[in-house]
Amino acid sequence: MLFSDYSKYKDKRPIISFEIFPPKTDRGMDNLKNELSQLATLGPDFITVTYGAMGSTRDKTLEIASLIKNHFGVESACHLTCVGATKNELDIILQKIYDAGVRNIVALRGDPPEGEKTFIQSEEGYSYGNELVEHIRNFELRTGNKNYFGIAVAGYPEKHLEAPELGTDLANLKRKVDAGADVIITQLFFNNDFYFDFVKKVRDIGITVPIVPGIMPILSAKQIQRITSMCGTTIPQILREKLDAAIDDDDKARDIGIEQCIQQSKELLARGVPGIHFYVLNKSGHMIRIMDALSEDLQKLRV
Ligand code: FAD
Repeated sequence: MLFSDYSKYKDKRPIISFEIFPPKTDRGMDNLKNELSQLATLGPDFITVTYGAMGSTRDKTLEIASLIKNHFGVESACHLTCVGATKNELDIILQKIYDAGVRNIVALRGDPPEGEKTFIQSEEGYSYGNELVEHIRNFELRTGNKNYFGIAVAGYPEKHLEAPELGTDLANLKRKVDAGADVIITQLFFNNDFYFDFVKKVRDIGITVPIVPGIMPILSAKQIQRITSMCGTTIPQILREKLDAAIDDDDKARDIGIEQCIQQSKELLARGVPGIHFYVLNKSGHMIRIMDALSEDLQKLRV
């Protein structure tokens, strides 16, 4: 299955995807394999694997995406960024992804290196996500494999942090879709109104591809504060107060996060989203509870 199939497989919708990140250590890798065996039993349509800062996890991203597809039998996607890569290096990576049989790519610009505020284009590389999408589509043509890859790009319901205003960011999102992206996956949000407003504005400027909401179940109050401060996601006041009361209690924060995620997901599903992309943070326990709570909603929508 490809990202381009969101529209084709209407009977499979809503399409459920999980996102994981490559661990830094061998022990982390062993843990991830255990968690993946659990996550795979939840029947996701895709599992996507992020690409670390400065391409630090480049090989691991592909290794894990390949494992997910070839060992666990779940369709996978490699995230790929422009950070620290020349056009030639991108070709080499794309060839490796192709050779491994992984057919989906989440194409991103990437973040500036830690401690820096502005993204610096690498020599002989790219500055923006739309250029990477175009590069991938050109790679397919050069290698005689037109539309081989399904391509997803990132969308920001609360605007990308660097964009002066949402309108500019949406125009830039359109460049990525016009360059050949099949689907948009959103940044995490805790207030569904941001998503529905975003979808309306995206449609108003003529973008028609599916827009899949990205939802992050909270696992720890401190961790989510750190993540949202980096990506600019708003934590609604009521949720913030609950999390403040669980600042040193991860079990409590996790329960709050599960409840929040279930509520958000139920509303999104009821209002007809094409799928949900869960940022699962390499754990399965909370996802088992969440998917269990959503099973009836999903079943009803799939018949
Ligand atoms: P772009 O679409 O290039 O946008 C970046 C900024 O530049 C925006 O402000 C935009 O408005 C502006 N812009 C875009 N195009 C142009 C243009 N042509 N001219 C002028 N301005 C322009 N990061 C990782 O490092 N690894 C990952 O695996 C990863 N996975 C992610 C998955 C998802 C679903 C999401 C939502 C984010 C992910 N990120 C990841 C984070 C992402 O790399 C950052 O948010 C990054 O800052 C922007 O990437 P982008 O592809 O959205 O950039």
